[in-house]
Amino acid sequence: MHHFQQRDGVLFAEEVSVTALAKQYCTPLYIYSAATFRRHFHAFDSAFDALDHLTCFSVKANSNLAVLKMLAAEGAGMDIVSGGELYRALQAGVDPSRIVYSGVGKRDSEIREALEARILMFNVESLAELERIDQVAGEMGTTARVSFRINPDVDPQTHPYISTGMQKNKFGLDIDMSMQAYKRAAELKHVEPVGMDCHIGSQLTSLDPFLEALDKLLAFNARLKDLGIEIKYLDLGGGLGIPYNEEEPPHPAEFGKALSDKLKGLPLKVILEPGRVIAGNAGILVTEVVYTKSNPAKNFLIVDAAMNDLVRPSLYGSYHRIAEVEPKGRAPKVFDVVGPICESGDFLARDRELPEVMQGELLVVYSAGAYGFSMSSNYNSRPRACELLVDGDKVIVARRRETYDDLLMNEL
Ligand SMILES: *Cc1c(COP(=O)(O)O)cnc(C)c1O
Repeated sequence: MHHFQQRDGVLFAEEVSVTALAKQYCTPLYIYSAATFRRHFHAFDSAFDALDHLTCFSVKANSNLAVLKMLAAEGAGMDIVSGGELYRALQAGVDPSRIVYSGVGKRDSEIREALEARILMFNVESLAELERIDQVAGEMGTTARVSFRINPDVDPQTHPYISTGMQKNKFGLDIDMSMQAYKRAAELKHVEPVGMDCHIGSQLTSLDPFLEALDKLLAFNARLKDLGIEIKYLDLGGGLGIPYNEEEPPHPAEFGKALSDKLKGLPLKVILEPGRVIAGNAGILVTEVVYTKSNPAKNFLIVDAAMNDLVRPSLYGSYHRIAEVEPKGRAPKVFDVVGPICESGDFLARDRELPEVMQGELLVVYSAGAYGFSMSSNYNSRPRACELLVDGDKVIVARRRETYDDLLMNEL
């Protein structure tokens, strides 16, 4: 969290006072650090320098156009999961030959758009999707490059909602189905199987599940070769975790080294789809305490950010570190930090020890750069927050705060 640091009693985002930004742009306010994004991208990407590789940022982690543009300029490809994300990636100037398209429910129109754009490949998640892609590509007189998302049935030991590589999950094809899929792809005229793919989950804090999945994919690749099917790309997905609290996930360098040791010398281009590890700690959410209140059971800090701004605590029970923007050294007390939304599940933290802050003061919610704004909504008719990208002493309004008119824009 290098670029979000206290200076003379005030939190700074790079060279800019967070208090000053909150005053100018109001709260709730997302602030991203450009330097942190760049540092994280290069730390991750360079960890794979021993391999022929392509790092595709997972757009759903943080889809802001300014963020995507900045990462594209640093050389990132993109991992997309919808037509809307394809549109964003193209608008951000990403080279389509560096775009991979994952997701279980791609519609015809989305497949067509991706073929028109000439993306690198589709990560196909079912036999039905394979047939559909072949049909759409045929209608367009083209060929689609595909890889299959193989579900290696490994337990990533993470939250059930973000574990994706077990048999009970909706994602990908199990090993037997995958074999069928490659055989079928070899028969079809308008698809070319070029890769293997897996993505086993998110916020992984150990390398073991990645390595177990990789072993299964390499064994599978050997079987493909026996059938005369040669693939070029090995996409290992995203999922590397970050420290939100006391987690100690492996550093990207360790991840890179472990994968490089297994893959060096193999004639495969490795694709990685990191999201959280690039964006998570590159962003904060700033919120103001609207009221405080206490009853015999609880102390509440009622803040102006809510589950519609940052849903992770409500959805996954996730921990986000919270602190004062201007620490005053007051004694701690135990609080629930809650938003104004009419849901008991609307909280940013529960039973959290925090200094006894007062109405009108600012709090910072750390690690909000991934799955923060991108998962936000207008629930309770709350206009979505402003997103700022700070680069040194420069402040870019990456997305202006929504207005009431924005709320009604698409309604009769
Ligand atoms: C969400 C997702 C990612 C990114 O996961 P992180 O945990 O944010 O790194 C990568 N690939 C696919 C297919 C995904 O769905």
